[in-house]
Amino acid sequence: MIDAFTIQISFLIYEAVFCLIAAACYAVSSDKIKIRKKIVVSLNVACSLMLICEYSFYAFKGSTTPLDVAIMYIVNAAVYYLIILLMVFYAMLISVRLFERFDLKKDMPCRKRLIAVCAIAAIGMILITVSQFNGIYYYFDENNVYQRGPLFMVASIIPMLGTFLVASMVIQFREKMSFGQQFVLISYLIFPLAGGIFQVLFYGNSLLNICIGISVLLMFFENVINKEKEVIKASKTEVRTGLANEHGYIEWLNAMKGNKDLMDYAVVFFDLRKFSDINRNYGIENGNRVLAAFSVKMLKYIKKDEILGRQFGNQFVAIVRKSNLDSLLKVLKGVDVVFTDIITKQETRVNLSARAGIYMIDRTDLEGEDILVFAGQALNAAKSTKNDDVVWLTQELMDSIAEKKKLESEIGFGLNNNEFKPFYQPKVNSMTGRMCGAEALSRWYHNGEILAPGRYIPIMEPTDNICKLDFAILKATCEDISRWLKEGMNVPQISVNISRRNLDDPNIAKNIDEVVTKAGIPKDLIEIEVTENNDEAAISLLKNFVDSLHDLGYKVSIDDFGSASSSLMLLREINFDTLKIDKGFVDLANQRDLAILTHIARIGKDLKVDIVAEGVERNDQIKTLDNLGINVIQGYYFDKPLSHEDMTDRLKNPVYEI
Ligand code: C2E
Ligand code: CA
Ligand code: CA
Repeated sequence: MIDAFTIQISFLIYEAVFCLIAAACYAVSSDKIKIRKKIVVSLNVACSLMLICEYSFYAFKGSTTPLDVAIMYIVNAAVYYLIILLMVFYAMLISVRLFERFDLKKDMPCRKRLIAVCAIAAIGMILITVSQFNGIYYYFDENNVYQRGPLFMVASIIPMLGTFLVASMVIQFREKMSFGQQFVLISYLIFPLAGGIFQVLFYGNSLLNICIGISVLLMFFENVINKEKEVIKASKTEVRTGLANEHGYIEWLNAMKGNKDLMDYAVVFFDLRKFSDINRNYGIENGNRVLAAFSVKMLKYIKKDEILGRQFGNQFVAIVRKSNLDSLLKVLKGVDVVFTDIITKQETRVNLSARAGIYMIDRTDLEGEDILVFAGQALNAAKSTKNDDVVWLTQELMDSIAEKKKLESEIGFGLNNNEFKPFYQPKVNSMTGRMCGAEALSRWYHNGEILAPGRYIPIMEPTDNICKLDFAILKATCEDISRWLKEGMNVPQISVNISRRNLDDPNIAKNIDEVVTKAGIPKDLIEIEVTENNDEAAISLLKNFVDSLHDLGYKVSIDDFGSASSSLMLLREINFDTLKIDKGFVDLANQRDLAILTHIARIGKDLKVDIVAEGVERNDQIKTLDNLGINVIQGYYFDKPLSHEDMTDRLKNPVYEI
């Protein structure tokens, strides 16, 4: 017959063996947090020892041989010591689980409680030792039978107290873990407490220690599962900021695929403005600190069921509820971030703002990658517009992106098949009303349509296609001039736009000259227009280019003068022949424009540089310009850019009414 007692002591030994096996398994497993590994193994070994001692206690109970008496003394004391030790390991485990460390240094969270646990453990150990001599906890009677002493209850209350303090840490920081995890960790308080009460009421059953064993095993399994989750989480986490990485938030989106809740969300793809300035001013290491501090700050605005991730560099992705979007965007307009400078060790404050592209998720069938591509396209649009910091992905934008992609793929073919042709916009001398020059402006004859440069130049500019375009237009212009000359017409000087990207080629001036020479037209009929830009590093290249053109006998004009911050600098360094005033100033929208225009006219005169006013649309502009001594006018007022045929007609009749 198997009686309750046999079941109980068999259970003790089974559990002891399980705990040992658990300890061995964890010992050979990999755990990146070394201290956790040590604690889990120690906890299980200690628990196993405690259960074996408990088992021995029952096995040798009642025998009075000196050896058995000694064993009874030893195993009993061991059980009491080990229970206290288990309480300390429990405190260590919880502390490592919550804060990834266990020490009693000043900055250790819950330090006071941990010190209290250690103090309780010390007192507990002392009392057990004392009890061995005076039997205050327990003693063995003449039959070698265990009897409770007067302070027996204290022996149970002491470890309970410590365990209670530790459990309070779990409760306080419960947000750091799931409900299941909390339950498992708290079970170390609840199970033994219940078992202990039962044992006290029905003396003779070893439930308390069996319950300790059960919760230690539970904690072991919880740790194994948690460790696995950590590995998964690490693969979805970006190291520097602790935010989700691309893998992390794509998976988040994919997990939501098909769920109609997904349509409650908006994806915000944003990049921090002028982050390169921060890296330059403070160094890359500090830049990383800024990113980390920014991430911590931003997480405060991200709710539990939302996600914030870092794409790379200064690019981030936030997937937030549409209802939370406004508050996020408000923060992205400008947020102060404080970091400790790695060199000066001083707290430094920087203000960060972002440009953002937003895709309001409106369907549930998209893959995570596609959703991000949509938001990324909106961000690109935000980056390429000067005015908008935030761009929403609309159907219109999607169409224009699709169109841009299509054109992009067709440009190569267009260039090879001479689809790009020059139109000519006359320059008129407002004193005489006669055409005194023209500018060649490209047009793309594409699928029966004539496309203006605004449609294709932005696509070409980042590539060498822009250089091919410049030469195609130069060549076609030279050929047109040659034809007009052959037809006996009077052809004025025509300017051709040369993009700055050409300057990377040291032979560029020579190549231009070759094209002109080959066409057999006089060099003074071609003028080269270069646009100023803010790229200071290129000034010397530009200067060499202009000097070479001058040496070869060409005139050079600076286009859109005044639109970049380095205008005066360029004028100081480089001998341009003509200065084309940016349309912005010629619009004469306000008094300031007039003031600037007046001074540009003065500078032009003093430096003996010709001035052309571009974008003139109204008669009053001509009058004002006239008063300032600016007489060469290019603009819709006289003519829009004309096709070859229209220009031919214009050349036959080059006089305008003013
Ligand atoms: P840009 O060189 O500043 O050319 C002047 C632009 O202003 C032309 O636009 C012209 O049509 C426009 N414009 C002239 N008068 C008026 C006016 O009274 N009112 C208004 N609103 N606009 C006026 P377009 O032809 O669309 O060319 C745009 C830009 O594309 C050009 O600006 C130039 O930077 C670029 N581009 C055109 N063809 C070429 C080319 O062959 N090579 C390069 N690198 N750039 C080119
Ligand atoms: Ca131009
Ligand atoms: Ca211009």
